[in-house]
Amino acid sequence: MRLIYAILFVLLLSACQTNETSVREIDMYNGSGDMVGTATFSEHPEGVQVTMKVEGLSPGFHGIQLHENPTCEGPNFRSAGNHFNPEGKKHGLMNPDGPHLGDLPNVEADSSGMADNELMLADATLLEGKKSILKEDGTSLIIHEGKDDGVTQPGGDAGPRIICGELKTNPEEDNTESSTDPTEQNEGEEEE
Ligand code: ZN
Repeated sequence: MRLIYAILFVLLLSACQTNETSVREIDMYNGSGDMVGTATFSEHPEGVQVTMKVEGLSPGFHGIQLHENPTCEGPNFRSAGNHFNPEGKKHGLMNPDGPHLGDLPNVEADSSGMADNELMLADATLLEGKKSILKEDGTSLIIHEGKDDGVTQPGGDAGPRIICGELKTNPEEDNTESSTDPTEQNEGEEEE
């Protein structure tokens, strides 16, 4: 019986960990490195819901997609790689051979350059699996200067990448530098 309890405990534990990754919030940066907004990813029965709020855009429509690398190096953000495409499809929500899993509908900025949108990344997940947007190191969310036409290869003719946010699988790894401080290492012993 104890083994069963042990298994149940492990299952319960992993269920709790799953809940922790069901919502993730990231910061969005422009090509100069200024933070211009946030995006929140939430697990949803139809996919991953993306709630995004950024400023500093030109009024009108802008292409937005999830890219394959969690690396936003300005000013051009080429480091983010191609659109996230784990199933080898073509680009575009209106493409019969598409879309990339990372393709999203355009966002619209108002006259002040603010975009406050709720989007659905259909079929994607924050949990494990081939369609996980937290596979390996993670992915990134990129907004383009122009509108994504939904069919043109490879990226919808949306123009330069202007805003980027890193969705890292293990965001806490960014803080490892602070542990090189010898004072903190001594204090760390108490935490165990
Ligand atoms: Zn695409």
